[in-house]
Amino acid sequence: MGPLQNLEQWDDFVVQRYQPDKKQEEFRVYDETTPPGVREFYRLNHTHQTVDFVREKKRQYLSKQRGKRSIWEALDYLNTLVDESDPDTDLSQIEHNLQTAEAIRKDGHPRWFVLTGFIHDLGKLLCLYGDPQWAVVGDTFPVGCSYSDKIVFPEFFRDNPDSRNPLYQSKFGIYSEGCGLDNVDLSWGHDEYLYHVVKDYLPEPALYMIRYHSFYPGHREGGYDYLFNDHDREMFQWVRKFNPYDLYSKSADRPKLEQLRPYYNDLINEYFPEKVAW
Ligand code: FE
Ligand code: FE
Repeated sequence: MGPLQNLEQWDDFVVQRYQPDKKQEEFRVYDETTPPGVREFYRLNHTHQTVDFVREKKRQYLSKQRGKRSIWEALDYLNTLVDESDPDTDLSQIEHNLQTAEAIRKDGHPRWFVLTGFIHDLGKLLCLYGDPQWAVVGDTFPVGCSYSDKIVFPEFFRDNPDSRNPLYQSKFGIYSEGCGLDNVDLSWGHDEYLYHVVKDYLPEPALYMIRYHSFYPGHREGGYDYLFNDHDREMFQWVRKFNPYDLYSKSADRPKLEQLRPYYNDLINEYFPEKVAW
């Protein structure tokens, strides 16, 4: 399906970028050490994520015409996305969600926070709808205003048609200062899609975590503060609280889904109806 061997290759690259023991000067050295597939993935992402593309994807998906599924059915469906690089597990997609959730649970966070971990990557279903990897995963960034140099591989914006539109390259672009992120189109991917699927069911901090967990230029690099409003800034505390669980919860001991199923079943039933529209 290329250029990534699988969707997790992007996640692994982000983890490697933000290793806690990494020295400051090593932080942004990713050019030579990055696998060619990952570079090519970012080249495609930065070339094709335009204002028009994002609007088209929103038209396509936000009316949720992909049928009704329970959360479990969505997880099972996501799991049919076979990970060729990891033939050992038949639960590869569920596993990352489960490890994230279990790490949150061990730290004694509220139930909705655990649930958020358990479902946070379900938007990757987009890949099963046939969308290319660069439109499903990848660090997200605002479209329609100038690209921050805090975005990874900013040089790949060179071939993005929006880079030749003076309005889209001004600081605030099609937005206004402090307009709030709800009014800003980020590059399209699994965060925004899942946000629209679950927005009626979860508390607001959970929705921020889901919607902005891949917005590394914003929550990790401090970029685009001029588009945030005060409420976004307050809510981003939660996005930042969530991020380490997403990045660092991968572990060798694999959680046993069958043992944990009753707990997550109750949790899902507490917040979601039997089926939700996708
Ligand atoms: Fe994700
Ligand atoms: Fe994740």
